[in-house]
Amino acid sequence: IKKSGILEMLTIKEQGNDIGGLAKLKQWLQQKARILSDWPAARAFGVEPPKGVMIVGMPGCGKSLTAKAAAALFNLPLLKLDMGSLMGKYVGESEGNMRRAIQVAEAVSPCVLWVDEVEKAFFGISSGHEGSEVATRLFGYFLTWMQDKTKQVFVIATANDISSLPPELLRKGRFDEIFYVDFPTEAERIDIFRLHLHRRKQLSAQIQLEELAKKTSGYSGADIEAVVKEAIEQAFVDKCVALDNTRLLQVINHTHPLRDVMANKIK
Ligand code: ATP
Repeated sequence: IKKSGILEMLTIKEQGNDIGGLAKLKQWLQQKARILSDWPAARAFGVEPPKGVMIVGMPGCGKSLTAKAAAALFNLPLLKLDMGSLMGKYVGESEGNMRRAIQVAEAVSPCVLWVDEVEKAFFGISSGHEGSEVATRLFGYFLTWMQDKTKQVFVIATANDISSLPPELLRKGRFDEIFYVDFPTEAERIDIFRLHLHRRKQLSAQIQLEELAKKTSGYSGADIEAVVKEAIEQAFVDKCVALDNTRLLQVINHTHPLRDVMANKIK
């Protein structure tokens, strides 16, 4: 199951404070981290065992980053279950894969199980199209496991498109919470620029974070990271002493957020 790329144990470099913006989500994760770090006392106090969280939203807006940062915050190993490759070609294969993946997660527990692209497995359940029978059985198995879970496996499910998910999965009680991550606001973009510039040792007083954020409406966190990387590369090649604001603005002027590229807005 490991060789086939269905389930992978990840080494985590990210930390909770690597996430820019998404204040509510970060605060929520910090609360869970406090509970998990003192679980026997929390349980004795009447706290319910944490089940997991669903994070839905735009590509490049921090879903994967959050899954990794959460495992770091919780100080737990992170297993990534790739729903795309779990769906086998042969009848019964996907169910067997799912069962084995869950067995491994339970054996590793306490851990975080990150179910990436959850919509790939459960897409079309109600549409009756080919493969929906397998998806329905898989879904039933997953829901029952989520409901009756006794081992400490904290599930983080991520998806790009909420409309392709079966409503039962989103019903209150399956996950502790569902978060929608959108393109960052101007204030969040300041935070994200600061983070990526700081991480690459290029944050100086000369850099106008507010101006950069103003000029990048519609940029995702991944778009912002790409701007910073490109500007640093150019500054190095041009033998600059350090990265400056003008360079960052030039790169912004010459790039477009992925959203616009995908929507064919760029001629
Ligand atoms: P996809 O749906 O395409 O998998 P995603 O939402 O999972 O997208 P991430 O993989 O988390 O996106 O983001 C890609 C990269 O962009 C991250 O590794 C990170 O460097 C940067 N990034 C995205 N969002 C943020 C954020 N809120 N704060 C800081 N960096 C971010």
